[in-house]
Amino acid sequence: MADIDIETTISDVKLFLEKLKGELPEVFTKPMPEVEGEEKQTQPEQETAGKVLYLGNLCEVELTLNPEQREPTVILVDNKFYVTLTSKDQNPSVLCEDFLRRQALDFLTARAKELAAKMEVTFNNLTVKDQKSLWGSCSQKNNLNFSYRLIKMPRAVIDYLIVHELAHLIHFDHSADFWATVEKFIPDYKQHRRWLNNNKYAVMAQSNVSLDNLKLDETNTTGGENNV
Ligand SMILES: [Zn+2]
Repeated sequence: MADIDIETTISDVKLFLEKLKGELPEVFTKPMPEVEGEEKQTQPEQETAGKVLYLGNLCEVELTLNPEQREPTVILVDNKFYVTLTSKDQNPSVLCEDFLRRQALDFLTARAKELAAKMEVTFNNLTVKDQKSLWGSCSQKNNLNFSYRLIKMPRAVIDYLIVHELAHLIHFDHSADFWATVEKFIPDYKQHRRWLNNNKYAVMAQSNVSLDNLKLDETNTTGGENNV
């Protein structure tokens, strides 16, 4: 039976992994802890709490409250997130995810253009969505669509997912020719599929930055003159 979906789904990845089980080395990140008899591997909560996953790195977050600032801000410098709230009603996790969404569009668009040029294909539009069951898809009108969560993955895995969708512009199926095209540009793509399988829960999880991590901005807490 022909199965011609053109989407990189999580179950697609999982099925493929069944075939590869045990034959590939761990790559890119420190190995995830083994969980007996279950593929539900995820990073221990204490390890991810208060941190944001970005390009495969678990980044520290410095959270500050500054009621005098106009709007909350998220700034990323050297793999560290500086989040400034203007009120305790704001949710730092949501602010971080919004930041990642904006980053994803710029990052994926730029990288897709580079990879498309290499593969000698062209696409029309690239959109970034908040989809939980799909990493990416492409349409017959040559439009690409990716989950913003790709921005949490290592660059090499992102490249694989982009090349996967771009290869569908040449082969609109998952035939042997399609996989040969993927392999031509990403020779170690099977390792990236393994990474996806091992890390999908961490990538899917929302950043968990709680107000417990909040540091008061000293300029606003000293002297008591700012009491409202
Ligand atoms: Zn596909």
